[in-house]
Amino acid sequence: MKQSRRNFLKFAGLSAAGLCLAPATAAMASGGGTSKEGHAVVNSNSLHAKRWAMVIDTRKLNTEEAIEALAETCHHIHNVPTIESDQNIKWMWTGSYGEVFPEQENNFPSEDQEKHKFPLLCNHCEFPSCVRVCPTKATFKRADGIVAMDYHRCIGCRYCMAACPYGSRSFNFMDPRTHLDMDKINTKFPTRMRGVVEKCNFCVERLAVGELPACAEKSGGSIVFGDLQDPDSNVRKALRENFTIRRKPTAGTEPGVYYII
Ligand code: SF4
Ligand code: SF4
Ligand code: SF4
Repeated sequence: MKQSRRNFLKFAGLSAAGLCLAPATAAMASGGGTSKEGHAVVNSNSLHAKRWAMVIDTRKLNTEEAIEALAETCHHIHNVPTIESDQNIKWMWTGSYGEVFPEQENNFPSEDQEKHKFPLLCNHCEFPSCVRVCPTKATFKRADGIVAMDYHRCIGCRYCMAACPYGSRSFNFMDPRTHLDMDKINTKFPTRMRGVVEKCNFCVERLAVGELPACAEKSGGSIVFGDLQDPDSNVRKALRENFTIRRKPTAGTEPGVYYII
């Protein structure tokens, strides 16, 4: 195989992992380094699961301020710009009960239900409609359940946005870099470009180096993250001990994010 093609394939592999950086930087972000030969080295601390999932305790996490603080952290580490218009980009945001669980609302909600806010993010669905419609495989589901993106493959067709029942995806109508303070960006995570779709990635780059998702880490126990397939995991314990619901069950996508109500 010619050298240039080998290099291209190596880079394509790293991009496909959802870590669309220059190869050396990507290897660092994925938790490894580079060997003398320039090959990516896997980080031995990286966290693994058969099926990553999240449980959010809305009895503890239910105010705009608390959720916004988590969203701010998420957006900062992922270089998500703040754009004050309907063209904003969001990886985590807030909604009222009726907006989040429209199928599970009744006519006479409790006072708590009416005043509480709920955190929203990509559900990393078991049967993700966004993956099914993506013509370029820019959106794909990993073996561990994370619905990841390769920004370089995204052609901006927005089929995935139309297909997602949860509004979890944002389109970069303009160059996001013009809305970022480039002196303060996280240089370990790629910035995106105009015409590309993006969304929460379950902090895949943090899992690769042995760290939990930033929102879970900062939530003070309100957000639990773990392996849905492991009966002894913290998420399974939370699901066993609490009543939980998921968003829009009739959409049939089987969300990987559960809410304790
Ligand atoms: S929430 Fe939407 S974007 Fe996320 S995996 Fe499910 S269908 Fe795809
Ligand atoms: S906008 Fe990008 S990620 Fe979405 S369907 Fe089109 S190519 Fe795939
Ligand atoms: S899991 Fe990570 S990417 Fe997703 S909302 Fe939480 S901090 Fe953001």
